[in-house]
Amino acid sequence: MTKEHVKCLIIGSGPAGYTAAIYTGRANIMPVLYEGIQPGGQLTITTEVENFPGYPEGVTGPVLMDDLKKQAERFGAQIRSGIITKTDLSKAPYLFTIDDEKEITADTVIISTGATAKYLGLEDEKKYAGMGVSACATCDGFFYRKKVVAVVGGGDTACEEAIYLAGLASKVYLVVRKPFLRASKIMQERVMKHPNITVLFEHNAVGLFGENGVEGMHVVKRMGAADEERYDIAIDGFFLAIGHQPNSSIFKPWVKTDETGYIITEGSTPRTGIPGVFAAGDVADPLYRQAVTAAGSGCKAAIEAERYLSEQGLL
Ligand code: NDP
Repeated sequence: MTKEHVKCLIIGSGPAGYTAAIYTGRANIMPVLYEGIQPGGQLTITTEVENFPGYPEGVTGPVLMDDLKKQAERFGAQIRSGIITKTDLSKAPYLFTIDDEKEITADTVIISTGATAKYLGLEDEKKYAGMGVSACATCDGFFYRKKVVAVVGGGDTACEEAIYLAGLASKVYLVVRKPFLRASKIMQERVMKHPNITVLFEHNAVGLFGENGVEGMHVVKRMGAADEERYDIAIDGFFLAIGHQPNSSIFKPWVKTDETGYIITEGSTPRTGIPGVFAAGDVADPLYRQAVTAAGSGCKAAIEAERYLSEQGLL
């Protein structure tokens, strides 16, 4: 197995990872970034990004990520394809296995592996990906002004997304599989009172249809019960809000996570509690999950890494 030592290893290639690479690259730390399973991260599966500062006309997700990558490479970051298959954070320098065939030790580590939106697992979600199916209302809601959309889920995220979309769309169906919402009381009240939102309790979305993109969904009311009903509802957009899964499992034996798996950092810093190991972006952010907040936390992690290396006399 080949071996290598680096001052800073960045794991993940979303806005957090690339921003950390830009900052550590400019600080002459010569970071090495591994792209992971989905190079470019979640933004590569969205279409237009209109809320990332600096792009007055908007930018597509893939172009934005490519720009960030080029900017990081300009400052000497080495961007490599590969997946971390094993970690050992028990002592510094920290040890990683890449693709089961190479070992890297690192003085500092920036974990920016992101989170993955959960989907229902319907074939139609794949069929209409980017053509009416989305897992991010803040990213894609704008395209549904004056249209009809459905949001699946009954938690705080689903309620928040339904309310956000209700400000743009003419009608929002909230598809909830149970006879009640799991969201906080205040969110429940807002949803129930909103004139543009219709809550479909005890409903499951089981399929989508449409010629050129989503035109409707197949739903089942009281699925599996004797009085089960199946019918179709016309919609233009289908939003999933059934939770996110942070990509933290490989670090779990070493870093603290909450019950969902989000890495817990110290206060508003990216420090994980392990000296020189930082977490940035969605893997440590159950609340905001925006490209710009991820980029901001990647910047913080890079500054922390630089300070740590300097304090340890490793620069
Ligand atoms: P939650 O896990 O709280 O809720 C997920 C929702 O999706 C539940 O209603 C669940 O249904 C439903 N669901 C899950 N799987 C399926 C499925 N296969 N089919 C249909 N429905 C499904 O996730 P959230 O993302 O909403 O929230 C995560 C955490 O973040 C929570 O602690 C939440 O309070 C917090 N949060 C806080 C916010 C705030 O304070 N402003 C904003 C957003 C999130 P069921 O109830 O039947 O299990």
